[in-house]
Amino acid sequence: MSTRHTNLEARVIAEGQELRSSERTMSVEHSRKKPGPKPRPIAERYWPKVDKVNGPVHPKLGKCWIWTGGTTEAGYGKIWGEDGRLDMAHRVSYKLEHGWDAIKPGYEVDHLCKTRLCQRPKHLESVTKEENLDRRDDW
Ligand SMILES: [Zn+2]
Repeated sequence: MSTRHTNLEARVIAEGQELRSSERTMSVEHSRKKPGPKPRPIAERYWPKVDKVNGPVHPKLGKCWIWTGGTTEAGYGKIWGEDGRLDMAHRVSYKLEHGWDAIKPGYEVDHLCKTRLCQRPKHLESVTKEENLDRRDDW
C-alpha cells in the first residue's frame, strides 16, 4: 500500500515537473514576443460593429454610420486599440481612413454631423481642442 502510494506520488511529482517545464518553455517563447495572444487587427474588430444601414440621415452629409459596440460615459464608441489601450471608435474610423498618425498632437476628431456614435469618415474632421469646444458652444 505504501509502495503504491509512493509510486502514485512519484508520478504526480513527475507530471508536475513536466507541466512546469512546458510552462517554462512557453514563457521563454512568450518573452521573445509581446506578452499574451496577438489581438486581431483592429479593422477586423471595428467594422462589424458599425451599422451603415439604420443611422439617422444628416441633411447635408447623408446617412450616419452608427457604432453598435461599447460606449464611454460621454456617449462615444470605444474599442481596444492594437497597442492595448482603449480608443474612441470615431478616432479609429478617422485613422483607418486617413492613416494611423493622421490625428496630430493637440487635435481631436470632431463630428460634423454632431452624432457622437457616428463612424462615417466623411462626417469626421480633425480639429484643435479649442475649435472643437467653440463648435460645441454654437449648438
Ligand atoms: Zn454622421
